[in-house]
Amino acid sequence: MEIRITFYGNLDFFLHPTLKEPPQMMHVIRRSTSVKDGIEACGVPHTEVGTIYVNGVLSDFDRIIIGGDFVDVFPITPPMDVTKKSFLRPDALEMPRFVADVNVGKLASLLRLMGLDTAYEQEWKDSQIAELALREDRIVLTRDRLLLKRKTVVFGHLVRTESPWQQLQEVIDFYSLFQWLQPFSRCTYCNKILRMVSKEAILDQLEPLTRMFYHEFTQCPSCGRVFWPGSHRERIKNRVMNILKKRGKLGLQDNINIGTLFNDM
Ligand SMILES: [Zn+2]
Repeated sequence: MEIRITFYGNLDFFLHPTLKEPPQMMHVIRRSTSVKDGIEACGVPHTEVGTIYVNGVLSDFDRIIIGGDFVDVFPITPPMDVTKKSFLRPDALEMPRFVADVNVGKLASLLRLMGLDTAYEQEWKDSQIAELALREDRIVLTRDRLLLKRKTVVFGHLVRTESPWQQLQEVIDFYSLFQWLQPFSRCTYCNKILRMVSKEAILDQLEPLTRMFYHEFTQCPSCGRVFWPGSHRERIKNRVMNILKKRGKLGLQDNINIGTLFNDM
C-alpha cells in the first residue's frame, strides 16, 4: 500500500514541479521508512519542517511510516525562536549562533558585521560543517539542500535570496534576530569579539588622516586588525536601518529600539 505525504505552505519550494499542484502537494512513496527519510525523499530537508502529523497525530522525525499512512507536513512558520523548545526540536539553543556554508560566505561576513557569532571557513566540507553545528549548537546556513538533510543538522535554513544583503535580511527576519544584533562588535575576518584599544597602542598602524580624525578604536584579539567608525560605517548603518524599516512595513512586531542599536558606534 502507498504512503501519502502531503506538503503545505512554502514547502512547495522544494518539490518537483509536477508535485506543486494546489491545494494539496501530495507525494506517494511505497516502502516503509522513517518520517524524516520519507519527507526528504520528496526533496524537502527536515530542517525546513515545522510540524508533522501522521494519520492526524503529531509526530516526530523518527516514527516509522507504513503503507496506508497519511502524512501531513507543514513548514516552519517564521519568526523561528531557536531558544524555545518545540516538538520536533526539544533541545533548544541557548542563543542563535551560525555556521555558514561556502556558498554563503559573504552572508557570513555580514552576520559577523552585525555582531552575530558565525563560524565560516572557505575550505570546510559538508561533513565538517554538520559536525561543528552539532558540537557547538550552531544553525547551518546554506544553499545546498543535501547538507540540510544530514541527520546531525538539527537547526538549518536554506537561504533563498541571491544577494548577500537580501540574505542578511532573510536570516534576520526568519530567526527574528533583532534583539541579538550588536553591529561592529565582531571581527568580520575571524568572528572574534573586538576589544577597545587605546590610540597610542596602535598609532603606528594608522594612516595620517585616520590618526588625525578618529579617537576610538577596536582591535581583533586574533588577527590584530584595527577598526574605527569611518564613512563605511555610515553606509552600513543606512543599509541596516533599511532592513529594520522594511520589517516595520511588513507589520511585524518591532521589539527593538532602533536608535540604541548604533549607540556604540
Ligand atoms: Zn580578526
